[in-house]
This record gives sequence, structure tokens and C-alpha cells, in this order.
Amino acid sequence: MIPAAHAVLDLSAPRHNLQRVRDHVPGSKVMAVIKANGYGHGLLRIARALRGVDAFAVARVEEGLGLREAGIIEPIAVLEGFVCADELALVLQHHLEPVIHSMYQVEIIEASGQKSSLSVWLKLDSGMNRLGFGEHDFLEAHRRLSGCSQVEKPIRLMTHLAKADELDDPATTNQLRLFRALTEGLFGERSIANSAGILGWPEARADWVRPGIMLLGASPFPHKTGADHDLHTVMTLQSRLIAVRELEAGVAVGYGGQWVAPRNIRLGVIAIGYGDGYPRSIGNDAQVLVRDTRVPVVGRVSMDMLTVDLSSCPDAQIGDPVVLWGDQLRIEEVAAFADTIPYTLLCAVTQRVMIVEGSIVRRRPGAAGSQQYQRHG
Ligand SMILES: *Cc1c(COP(=O)(O)O)cnc(C)c1O
Repeated sequence: MIPAAHAVLDLSAPRHNLQRVRDHVPGSKVMAVIKANGYGHGLLRIARALRGVDAFAVARVEEGLGLREAGIIEPIAVLEGFVCADELALVLQHHLEPVIHSMYQVEIIEASGQKSSLSVWLKLDSGMNRLGFGEHDFLEAHRRLSGCSQVEKPIRLMTHLAKADELDDPATTNQLRLFRALTEGLFGERSIANSAGILGWPEARADWVRPGIMLLGASPFPHKTGADHDLHTVMTLQSRLIAVRELEAGVAVGYGGQWVAPRNIRLGVIAIGYGDGYPRSIGNDAQVLVRDTRVPVVGRVSMDMLTVDLSSCPDAQIGDPVVLWGDQLRIEEVAAFADTIPYTLLCAVTQRVMIVEGSIVRRRPGAAGSQQYQRHG
């Protein structure tokens, strides 16, 4: 029996995707960004799948501590840095590498009597206007950090691209120009590119790259999927068909009775809903796969269930597996149904969804048979 809402995680895929990163930037070191619970896949699970990568990056100190407690020994950058002296003490104790983005952090370092060495990333705000020093403070922050004996030299330098997924927008070129201009003459390794920078902007390659979403197999670009970049899907979200109903034309389905059957239809009820992280906001072009056949979602998505029109899949039976996203229905497509991006769908998968670690038996082009998975252990 197929379990209800569950996510099959192919934990060989992150390594494959890491290799794709290396193919794009053979000269760069890779900092695997695994913040937000590994983009919803499990922080430790993804860290272990990528063991041996040059470094990891997380957003917060607590995420870094979680990795250290689990015995992860690779360097760990903390993208939001620390916010107080107590957090700096934890950073030092656990050898985390904070991003320094504001002068208050420089002041905390200067005021701390700590002697143990601190490896930092100094962040320039080159145009995103979120975190980082502006043009006028960047060199001042660099000068002051250089004067702190415990800060390792040369100080490493980074910035973040706001529009790298928009390949015909000049913003990225401007950001790159500003970063180059302000860091000219400074020693220290540089890091600029996220996934979109790695895939779309060769000029953004630097000593380090910071891929996140592409390690999980999804494309950072609108109108593309991971398959376009030869990335392997890590998560396949599945559930099962739990009821099949014959409905007459004119009958309203689900909360609000928003969808009315335009003709006599076979309605399928699937055990997954927004309580599992499937978006409630999907449009009326949304589809799921029942027995590998695309069927349209009809009516409102509810907490535990959603309903589909089974007309295009007459053989569908109770208990059939349903794929919400995976290799044959890419998450980028589902994100477009919901007018969002794959990042939010992955991060939104809830605790209730059972995790099955397995390797997906990928369908060779032209080969018959449905996607299956093998359980490990
Ligand atoms: C999240 C994040 C990344 C990774 O971005 P992707 O688009 O997932 O590749 C890289 N750098 C910073 C600063 C980030 O916050």
C-alpha cells in the first residue's frame, strides 16, 4: 500500500547536482547553501549527502550549531552572521564563519576580549539593498576588521546578486562592476554567485560559489526546469487516491462550491492538502500525475485533500499512487501553477509528510514503466 502524503528523497541526487556545479565552475570552491532545513529536505540529511563539499552555508547561528552537534566538520558560513556578543562566543566556540554585514558586528568583535581566531566573510551590498555594507562603509569596515588581531587575514569578500535569474537585466552587470571596483587591491578570496549566478553569469564565478536550489535539483530561472541543466530531482512528493466518485454535471465540489462539474465526471480524491504543504493558491491550470497521467486539480485544495477530474485517466483506482511533483512533473511547473517559485514549495513541506529515503529508478527516455523507488535499509 502506498502511504499517504510522503516525500521520497533521492539522496544520491545532491551529489550529482554538486558535480554539475563543479562542471560549471571547475576552478571554484563550493559552499553548499543548506539553510531553512536544507530547503525543506532536512538539514542533516542534505549535509550528509554532500559530505566533503568545501564548505556549507546556513542563514543562522542555530543552524550552524545543529550541524556541529551532529558532527559535521566542514567549514560552515553563517550568512546572517551573529547579532550579539553571546552569539559571537558560540560562533568562535564552534568554528563558524560569520558574514559581517553591519558596523555593529564589527564593534562587537572589537569589544570582545576573545583571542581565538575568527574567520569571517565581509559583505558588500552591491545593489540588493538588504544585507551588506554600502560603498561608503565597506572599506572602513575592512580597515577596522583588519585591525582586529583575532580576525584571520586576508579577510574574505562577498556580495549577493539580486537579479541573477533575469539574464537580460543590466542589474547583475552593475553589481559585478561595483564589487570589482570596491574590492580591487584587496587580498582575500571572493564569493558572488548563487545558483542563478553559477548557471547564467560566467563573470560571477569567483574563488567560491554558493549554490542552494540547484543542489536540490530545481532551476532558479523562470520557464526552465532542473532537467534543462541536467539536475536530478531530490524530492518526489507523492500520495494516493483514496476515493473515486461519479458526479453529475452541475454538482459543486469542495469548500465554497467554487468548481462546478461542467459535465458528468469521475472525481478523484487525493490524500494531500495545504496541511502537507501543497499550495492552496494553485490556479485552475494545475495538474497532478495519477498513474503517470496528468489530471487537472478541480475545486479548492483543502487541508488534507485535493480533488481531481479523472476523465483523462479512466483506469484510475483507489490506492493508485499520485505524484504532486517529481521527475515527470517538475516542481518548477507546479510553482508556476501556484504563481510562486520552487523555493517556497520545498520550504513549505510540513512535518506531517513522511520522509522516505530512497533512490528513484529514473525512467530512461522511451522506456516503459512508471517511476518507482527502492527503500534503503
Ligand atoms: C540563499 C542564498 C544563496 C543560495 O541561493 P540559491 O538561489 O538557492 O542558489 C546564496 N547566497 C546567499 C547569500 C543566500 O542567502
